[in-house]
Amino acid sequence: MLKPIACGNLDTEGEVFRGALLEWFRADGRDYPWRRTRDPYAILVSEVMLQQTRLAVVLGKGYFARFMSAFPTVQALAEAEERALLRVWEGLGYYRRARMLQATALAVMERHDGHFPRDEKELLALPGIGPYTAGALRSFAFDLPAPLVDGNVMRVFSRLFDDAMPIDSTEGIKSHWRRAGALLDRDHPRLFNSALMELGQRICKVGVPDCLACPVARFCQSRQPESLPVKAKTTAITELEEHAIFVRDQEGRILLHQETGKRRGGLWRLPIREKERLSGAVLMHEMSYAITRYRVRLYVYGLTEVILQDGESWVPLEELDAHPMAAPYRKALGTVMDY
Ligand code: SF4
Repeated sequence: MLKPIACGNLDTEGEVFRGALLEWFRADGRDYPWRRTRDPYAILVSEVMLQQTRLAVVLGKGYFARFMSAFPTVQALAEAEERALLRVWEGLGYYRRARMLQATALAVMERHDGHFPRDEKELLALPGIGPYTAGALRSFAFDLPAPLVDGNVMRVFSRLFDDAMPIDSTEGIKSHWRRAGALLDRDHPRLFNSALMELGQRICKVGVPDCLACPVARFCQSRQPESLPVKAKTTAITELEEHAIFVRDQEGRILLHQETGKRRGGLWRLPIREKERLSGAVLMHEMSYAITRYRVRLYVYGLTEVILQDGESWVPLEELDAHPMAAPYRKALGTVMDY
């Protein structure tokens, strides 16, 4: 891989580093909707969506625009019904994020009369706001000199400083936040943080970086950047099976189950049964989906008779669309309805 030789010094030439990064970003930075606004609420929504969902999905599939259209203000989100909220979030996964976003909105309404605080301590006291989100709100919405470290920034710093300290270790995380604070452009925190994150997204990307296009390559100490960053833990994937049933009653209604619990509470899905009880049923559909550290094989069987269990109810066809449902189940349901 071609990579320029480092000749700059980040300890003594911070100003040159900041200048090169901002010059590149001003000329070539992307125009995302959340960069056109200073509304802390819109910025919060974008940040929470982007925490576990790719930019291409949040933007390309219209999630951010739909959410802002459904709940345009912090007050609208605070007053939203759970079903409407989960329906708009449907397909993004990690539904706890949607509920936490609403908890933040409620707290902003109750404690701050609908106005997001600028103070770091007050932001951190809100539910769902950690150091990253507080930094994002302070720098992106209020242009305050708050450092910001996400996965992209950690990758850039690991390479710039040729640092093999695991980015999922406490020490690794602390040292990258220290670097972010030391390098921050205090005159242009909003631009600087956006530029650094975008450098990681587009140039110093996962895998092989595009070093020849890098505006700060002269400061980069790494000789094998594709081997960085390092992670200490690897996530083991567990295989699971789910056996769901598809049943219509005489009125054409579909049997669904409403989930409880923290992760998927409030969402609907096809009811689950033990595999052993489905030996005579027709297998209508099978598919795989991934969720957190699980890879799930989902089987859907057609039944003509059923004994209802707790949480199950018949849903008329015309109401199906209003019932929030995790994306794999929405997809499976669509397939078996056409069976
Ligand atoms: S793209 Fe990343 S690895 Fe390559 S020169 Fe720039 S900072 Fe270094």
